[in-house]
Amino acid sequence: MAKDYYQIMGVSKNASKEEIKKAYKKLAKQYHPDLNKSPDAAEKFKEINEAAAVLGDDKKREQYDRFGTTAEGFAGGFQGFDFSDFMENIGGFGFDFENIFENLFGGSFRGRRQGPRRGSDLLYELEMTLGEAAECVDKVLIIPRLEECTKCHGRGAESNADIETCSTCHGHGYVQHTRRTAFGVFATTTTCRDCGGEGKIIKKACSMCDGEGLIRKTRKLKVKIPAGIDEGERLRISREGEAGEKGGPSGDLYVRVHIQAHERFERQGNDLYSQIPISFVQAALGDEIEIPTLDGKVKMKIPPETQTNTVFKLRGKGMPSLHGDGKGDLKVTVVVETPTKLNKKEKELLEQFAKLRGEKIKAGKIFGKWKF
Ligand SMILES: [Zn+2]
Ligand SMILES: [Zn+2]
Repeated sequence: MAKDYYQIMGVSKNASKEEIKKAYKKLAKQYHPDLNKSPDAAEKFKEINEAAAVLGDDKKREQYDRFGTTAEGFAGGFQGFDFSDFMENIGGFGFDFENIFENLFGGSFRGRRQGPRRGSDLLYELEMTLGEAAECVDKVLIIPRLEECTKCHGRGAESNADIETCSTCHGHGYVQHTRRTAFGVFATTTTCRDCGGEGKIIKKACSMCDGEGLIRKTRKLKVKIPAGIDEGERLRISREGEAGEKGGPSGDLYVRVHIQAHERFERQGNDLYSQIPISFVQAALGDEIEIPTLDGKVKMKIPPETQTNTVFKLRGKGMPSLHGDGKGDLKVTVVVETPTKLNKKEKELLEQFAKLRGEKIKAGKIFGKWKF
């Protein structure tokens, strides 16, 4: 059937693109089936779009001009086009002529088939003690997650007999319309509407998962936490996230470690830091004291005449390296404590001591060695 697109648009054969655009806007509003309730408005609207799609495109218009009005047109080529999206664009001033053309020729095939989809990754925030971080420990995590439905094994159907190949698309998930026109063969591909691109139709949905193929479960999972793990570090446990859809792989589970503050030790990398009080007699005369470490007490020598804030390094008593190359150190700061609650005898002894050292003491102030 011959169609005169210029006539349909009500423009001359020399009309500029701007004129065609203007005519299209006017006509599209006039015949928009939502606005125009006359029985042939939809058909007319379709015709206008068809004409605009050719005349609005320089290349197509040139071809059309060469073939004249005898051309069969693109009537069938728009079947896949979803007018409902497009209609939303019309009516206001914001409506974009160019975009509609793109939609007409490029946008109709959204229909990549909906294949398997990987499940989501999950993140678990794990609290642990410093002692646990120093050893390789097993932790039991309780994880709510989507898993493959045990009844339908992710297929979503009550039984295998309830899954049928879509008769509209023969299992392809998309439909192609081909039209032979004077300008060549035009094919439009659309997602199959009957099966939504699945290629299959489920007659009876699985009663356990309502056809989703997935169910939410709370799973207990034992996870080995390697020795030496540090605050904020993440472990990836592959395939322990949420189940994939339609046979897609599961996501991964990430475990992010948080280490509780320890009452005695501070950690910096693989080294541990602690403080230990000693008396001024121990500091002056030297001693052997017991030092708490993460794995029990060890003996440490305080040499005579040790000053306060001296740091002693206990090799290999820190945290194990996550990469397995040895252990860090424990750095112990000794803090010399001033004796308190002195009795008379002790005071006298200290005064004697000061005298022997040539220190003059009066009203709690020291004179002699230091000048004030
Ligand atoms: Zn199921
Ligand atoms: Zn189908």
